Amino acid sequence: MIKIKSKEEIELMRESALMVSKTLGILAKEVKPGVTTLYLDKLAEEFIRDNGGIPGFLGLYGFPNTLCMSPNAQVVHGIPNNKPLENGDIISIDCGVLKNGFYGDHAYTFEVGEVSAEIKKLLTITKESLYVGIREFRTGNRVEDVGWAIQNHVEKHGYGVVRELVGHGLGKKMHEDPQMPNYGKRGRGKMFLNGMVVAIEPMINMGTHKIDQLRDGWTILTKDRKPSAHFEHDVAMINGKPELLSTFQYIYDALGIVSDEEKEFRI
Ligand code: MG
Ligand code: MG
Repeated sequence: MIKIKSKEEIELMRESALMVSKTLGILAKEVKPGVTTLYLDKLAEEFIRDNGGIPGFLGLYGFPNTLCMSPNAQVVHGIPNNKPLENGDIISIDCGVLKNGFYGDHAYTFEVGEVSAEIKKLLTITKESLYVGIREFRTGNRVEDVGWAIQNHVEKHGYGVVRELVGHGLGKKMHEDPQMPNYGKRGRGKMFLNGMVVAIEPMINMGTHKIDQLRDGWTILTKDRKPSAHFEHDVAMINGKPELLSTFQYIYDALGIVSDEEKEFRI
């Protein structure tokens, strides 16, 4: 069942989402060759707890850490470890926070040092597809309109859309209805309504859409071991239109990136 949120609940959710955004902003300064994902995980946990939040992934379904850390061919749900990041890597960092009884859930794929032009393009197109999808989250549209738009945008470049993992409704639970696939057909699925809050999160592979899972029971990686990118925003529907609750601005401030990509999704 889809849970519609009140204005007050959406404001609480904005706080949770912004705590994730700030956490990712702190990590943005630290992502570089030689740094381990476990170190970044500890930094994130400390920041969240110091600010009155609870790490949203830690213990969720039994996940062992604060961050999902998925480098290179890993799609999502990678477990932080002591292996240093290397120049040319990418690292998808997914972070959840529970605050005031509501979850925030938000992800960004970072470049480590200098990455290839081919990988830069994967990141650009995947992030574009996130906004292309968010644009479809408005009254009159249905769940698969978002997925259709994302799929249409990335497949033109020969990329693969992961099927087995999807975006989702967000609220007092990390994963609420509806499921939000990153593929689909125009005009299909549940109708969008004011007060819905969803996490839209394209997981896009440079090659095949097919995936494997490591024997750790968590890590999802591409079947062909080509790189994969993941960007995620929390979005509320207000007055029939999508409004971002999360922001990449803290990341951009840390990295000196100038962007107005989020402007159209702010009231
Ligand atoms: Mg996430
Ligand atoms: Mg999510």
